[in-house]
Amino acid sequence: MNRRLLLRGAAGAAVALAAPRQVFAADYDLVIRGGRVMDPSQHLDRRVDVAIRDGKIVALRPDIPASAGVDSIDASGKLVIPGLIDIHLHARDAELPPPEILATGVTTMIDAGSKGADNFNQILDIARQAPNRLRVLLNIARLGNNPGGRGEFLDSLEQADVDKASRVIADNRDWIVGVKARLSKGIAADRDREVLKLALQVARPARVPVMIHVGNTATPLPLLIEMLRPGDIVTHMYAPENGILDASGRVLAQVRAARQRGVLFDFGNGLNEHWSWEVAQRGLDQGFAPDTVSSDLNVPGRTAQVFDLPNVLSKFLVLGMPLDEVIARVTSRAAKVFAPLNDYGTLRVGATADVAVLELTEGSFEFLDNYKGTRPGGRRLVTRAVVFGGKRVG
Ligand SMILES: [Zn+2]
Repeated sequence: MNRRLLLRGAAGAAVALAAPRQVFAADYDLVIRGGRVMDPSQHLDRRVDVAIRDGKIVALRPDIPASAGVDSIDASGKLVIPGLIDIHLHARDAELPPPEILATGVTTMIDAGSKGADNFNQILDIARQAPNRLRVLLNIARLGNNPGGRGEFLDSLEQADVDKASRVIADNRDWIVGVKARLSKGIAADRDREVLKLALQVARPARVPVMIHVGNTATPLPLLIEMLRPGDIVTHMYAPENGILDASGRVLAQVRAARQRGVLFDFGNGLNEHWSWEVAQRGLDQGFAPDTVSSDLNVPGRTAQVFDLPNVLSKFLVLGMPLDEVIARVTSRAAKVFAPLNDYGTLRVGATADVAVLELTEGSFEFLDNYKGTRPGGRRLVTRAVVFGGKRVG
C-alpha cells in the first residue's frame, strides 16, 4: 500500500467517525431498475438500469441495487425511454395545465401557435410556471389561434404584424423556437401563400423554423412546400384534403423532393380534418413516415381522439410501425427539430435526466382518426412514471 492510499484510508476512517451518513450515502439520487431501456439516440434496446444524480443520467448498466439510490423506481416489465418531446400541442388553457401533460411523460413540449405577438405574454406566463420544458412557436397571426372564432386571415392580412412579431421573438429568445402559420382555407382563405410569406419574413432573420398547418388549403400542397426551407415543418402531414397524395393515392414527387432537401413532416393528431387512417396507411406503405409524431393536444382532445401522446403513439403501432421507430419520433428525432432542444430526447450518460416509464399494455383497444374512423389494436402505451430533470414527478 503506498502512502497516498494510506492517507485516503485514514481520511475515510475520520469521516466515518465524524459523519457516518456521508460514508453510507447512496451513490445516486434515483435508480430506475429492471426495465427495458429503449433509447433510439444510442440504438439501445436492452434490459439495463438507469442511475441519476444531480439531474443527470450518470450510469446505464445492469444490476444497480436499489440501495445505491436515495430513491428507486421498479420498472420491471416496462419500457424506460427518454422523456417524450411533443412538438405540437396547445398549453394555453387552465383546463389543460402543464403538470397534467408532464404526468403523461411529456417532459418537453412546444405550444404551436396558440398565441401571437399581441398576446404572447399569456403563453409566456404559462411557460414560466410550467414544471416541464415548455417552448413556443409564435403564431404569425397577432392573436394566435382563434378557436371557435372567425379565421385569422379570412378578411385580410392585417392580422399579421411582421415587425412586432420580430421584436417579440428578439426579446424572448429563451422561449420562442419558431413561427407557426395556419394555412387552411377556413383560416387563411386564398391568402395561404401570402400568410406563409409573412411568416418567413419573421423567421428568416430570426434564424428559426416555420411550422405550417396544412390540409384543405386553397393552394395545392406542392406550391406551399416549395416555399419552405430545410428545417421548416409541415404539420398535419396526413390531412386528406389537398395533402401529400395524388388522385391515385401516390405520394407526390414534390413532397418527396421537399423531404430530400430537408423539409420536415409532422403528424399532428388533433381533432378535425388533420388525418385519416387511409392517408396515414398509404403514406407509411410508400415509405413516407412522419419525422415526428405530435399530439396537437388541446382541451377537447383530452377526452376525445387524442387523450395523450402515448395514446397517439399507440396508433402508429396499429399502423405497423415498429416500437423503436415510434419512440424515436418523440425522442431523438423530435429533439433535432429545434436547435435549443438538441440535447434532450436521450438517455446518454451526461444528459439531462428526463425519463418516461411506459407500459405496453395488452388488451382490445379502439383508436380513432379525425373522421370517426376506428381501428382495433391489441397494444396501448400507458405512462407509469415520469422523471424530469432528475426529479420524480408526482
Ligand atoms: Zn395545433
